[in-house]
Amino acid sequence: MTDYPRPPFPQQAQPVPGSQAKMEPYPDCGEQSYQGSGRLDSRIALITGADSGIGRAVAIAFAREGADVALSYLDEHEDAQETARWVEQAGRQCLLLPGDLAQKDHCRHIVEATAERFGRIDVLVNNAAFQMTHETFEEITDEEWVKTFDTNITAIFRICQAALKHMGEGSSIINTSSVNADMPKPTLLAYACTKGAIANFTGGLAQMLGERGIRVNSVAPGPIWTPLIVSTMPEDEVRHFGSQTPLGRPGQPAEVAPIYVLLASDQASYTSGALYSVTGGRPIL
Ligand code: NAD
Ligand code: MG
Repeated sequence: MTDYPRPPFPQQAQPVPGSQAKMEPYPDCGEQSYQGSGRLDSRIALITGADSGIGRAVAIAFAREGADVALSYLDEHEDAQETARWVEQAGRQCLLLPGDLAQKDHCRHIVEATAERFGRIDVLVNNAAFQMTHETFEEITDEEWVKTFDTNITAIFRICQAALKHMGEGSSIINTSSVNADMPKPTLLAYACTKGAIANFTGGLAQMLGERGIRVNSVAPGPIWTPLIVSTMPEDEVRHFGSQTPLGRPGQPAEVAPIYVLLASDQASYTSGALYSVTGGRPIL
């Protein structure tokens, strides 16, 4: 209850996709706290949206558990360099893959570049996403609707399809969904739709890939303090972000990453098709 910052937060707004370096308070991605214990020894992971927020915390945790990681991100080079620094400090290799996942060819590129560098993919974390707040339905442009779907769900389909030939028995896919999958926030209409689709896609793909020994799960975070929030939500909402949860504060990326470690590890060998919620007390039914 007391280790992490509670709202109200300082007034702040940033352009999309946001910079973690400029956030106040600075999100905790486990830089000073995460302790590994060899749970992902010698694994190869590809993580999208890994420059900042939840993706960075997952990258740090995976590296400290023994994995080499390929990090995909849009264009936040400074944040990505910082994540890479932590991965390398853990004694693991890091490959940086900037670019737009709304582009079909780029989805294939990040997979092929990872396979070329490391030889295979053991853990695929589909975590990149775009969202924007709109007060009215009419405000959502056709272009933004398509961009949201291309980035959040079509990219996952494309990346999974390209990655499968590099993934063997015992590997796993983890997709980042959201509490919005079952309780859509109306001001995030397009985004919430894609998160529902991600949860559904996860359930279907898990059934398709079971016989190949590949597990597929999703994580549904509640409010987590990341650049996505300060770059896409109204300043007043940012100021009070997370205050509505039973725990009275937003989660930090460091509080979400351990779930990805569990789902990626052999300890979750019978867990597939699951949606794991990390919501600060709000139940997902
Ligand atoms: P974040 O901003 O740190 O991470 C999202 C990343 O996605 C960005 O860093 C960016 O590099 C990447 N990205 C965005 N558009 C892209 C594009 N077109 N091509 C390539 N990469 C692109 O924020 P986060 O909150 O850590 O987000 C990670 C995931 O968690 C997202 O899927 C988000 O929907 C999900 N999530 C977040 C919250 C929350 O409250 N922060 C809640 C539920 C779910
Ligand atoms: Mg970022």
